[in-house]
Amino acid sequence: MALKLFNTLSRSVQEFSPLDPEGRKVGIYCCGPTVYDFAHIGNWRTFVFGDLVRRCLEFKGYAVRQVMNITDVDDKIIKRVRETNSSLREFTGRFEAAFFEDLRALNCRLPHQTPRATEHIPDIIALIEKLVTRGLAYKATDGSVYFSIEKYRDAGCQYGQLVKLNFEEMRVGERIRSDEYEKEAVADFALWKARMPEDGEVFWPAPWGEGRPGWHIECSAMSMKLLGPSFDLHLGGEDLMFPHHEDEIAQSEGAGVQQAGQRFVKHWLHGAHLLVEGKKMSKSLGNFFTLRDLLAKGFTGREIRYLLLTAHYRETFNFTLEGLQAARASLMRIDECLGKLRELAANTFAFHRTPGRRPEHLWRLGGDF
Ligand SMILES: [Zn+2]
Repeated sequence: MALKLFNTLSRSVQEFSPLDPEGRKVGIYCCGPTVYDFAHIGNWRTFVFGDLVRRCLEFKGYAVRQVMNITDVDDKIIKRVRETNSSLREFTGRFEAAFFEDLRALNCRLPHQTPRATEHIPDIIALIEKLVTRGLAYKATDGSVYFSIEKYRDAGCQYGQLVKLNFEEMRVGERIRSDEYEKEAVADFALWKARMPEDGEVFWPAPWGEGRPGWHIECSAMSMKLLGPSFDLHLGGEDLMFPHHEDEIAQSEGAGVQQAGQRFVKHWLHGAHLLVEGKKMSKSLGNFFTLRDLLAKGFTGREIRYLLLTAHYRETFNFTLEGLQAARASLMRIDECLGKLRELAANTFAFHRTPGRRPEHLWRLGGDF
């Protein structure tokens, strides 16, 4: 049976078919963690969903290549590095290691490649240079390089493919330096952020001056470097649809590196939000859980994974501690059933090997179970 997936790009369910002419290889890119803290259970819903998609494709016989980036430089990280008085690598290394530990605890297959943004600065610079050469990016008076939405649209490209945007309200030429912003704030976004005093030692040289990459450009540069300019699946939480994924499309397709008629990404998949105890997760409400918080309460990664997978990925899911208890009970029933089946299989094997017994009697064993 063909695999059908809801593609955010077309807003419809489409039959999955890989770009590979032989129909065998599949490239998946999942937006990975920003390593400034431990990932929370809402983040884990998306990562477990990514693992499920990968396992599903592998089960169907595809040769999957999964890439997940590690965002190890951004506004939040720099702030924490400053606050903790540590080096960038020291600070991010700790949370990166924790992320992989948690990934294993949830029995997620390790992505084939987990590139760090800071190790792909030359690729990021090369991509920005392409955009500057094509007239889609410009250096502003603040020394940073921005992507021009107006120029992109003038070139006949569509900004607002994953979400509907109201350009009437857009103030042309307005710029946003921050990595995250609201939908109302459609504005030119930073590709390269000029070095600021508060960045401390976190900067790299570039043709436009010292600075660091914006968050969106890193995913475009690393995904295309490792999976090619056009690949099959891009996954993330629905909160990444705008601006992050929209900007990824603009940067990647604006660079003009795809073959005629090909897109940056063929299928976009987005996982829905998670509520915890019926409410949006927040530290002040006491319903904010990292995976570690739940493990400390005595639940296992397997129970947490099971609960996360009981809901369809495109539906908002209410995660509760009660639900985790129920997941534990369900798993116990499944394990008990599996134990009985194993016992039966062992008996069947012994029965089959008994001289004089005929295989056609074996079905009885099934009846006894
Ligand atoms: Zn990303």
